[in-house]
Amino acid sequence: MRIDIATLFPEMCERVLDESILGRARRAGKITVNCHNIRDWSKDKHRRVDDTTYGGGMGMLMQAEPIYRCFLDITKDMPQKPHTIYMSPKGKLFNQQKAIEFSKKENIFIICGHYEGVDQRIIDKIVDEEISVGDYVLTGGELPALIVADAVARLCDGVLSANVCFEDESHYNGLLEYPQYTKPEEWEGMKVPEVLLSGHHKNIDDWRKEKSLEITKNNRPDMYEKYLRSIGEN
Ligand code: SAM
Repeated sequence: MRIDIATLFPEMCERVLDESILGRARRAGKITVNCHNIRDWSKDKHRRVDDTTYGGGMGMLMQAEPIYRCFLDITKDMPQKPHTIYMSPKGKLFNQQKAIEFSKKENIFIICGHYEGVDQRIIDKIVDEEISVGDYVLTGGELPALIVADAVARLCDGVLSANVCFEDESHYNGLLEYPQYTKPEEWEGMKVPEVLLSGHHKNIDDWRKEKSLEITKNNRPDMYEKYLRSIGEN
């Protein structure tokens, strides 16, 4: 899979994408993530990409033209238009289901807004989906784009050591993950639950399921209700 991120701050994105699991996956060629500076496609001699808003109002808006020129240039050799996402607090909320959906695409093109956002016409022209990472407003789309890239990349073949790494995790099956413990067996007077030391796989699975249900019910009653409906118990 290939992800292209169009941003005013490519170095900021690269710093994150170069680290840890994603960095290793990129270097091993398991996933391609490219960051593009939208200013490189500005025709302005000062590389400006923003201007004031029509109708008045505070703040500047990113112009459609440099983003469009960037998009056309980057995607010109692709066999088909990439799934194009604009990171926006007005978008649909990102979640694990969306991450799974995006991980099945060949190419994703992500646009990061800044200032007051982008001219609506670039959204109307090339964007397939506006995606939000939460009900709050950030200064730019870079952190949201990195969240999407990270969540999607770890679902791609070969990025994690085994698929079970994410299939067993919170949100994958509509529940939150059970508590986990590592060595030592006792720390600060707190012991690892006996069942996890028993080696009895069925009992361990039952305990984990019970804890998973308990945590979901307490922390995310909305998810718990949805889960009960999905198994026909509500
Ligand atoms: N004027 C916009 C509004 O009220 O919807 C907010 C613009 S925000 C200050 C600047 C940029 O940050 C946006 O264009 C978007 O790319 C990004 N951004 C901010 N919050 C976001 C969120 N919750 N999810 C995704 N992107 C976000």
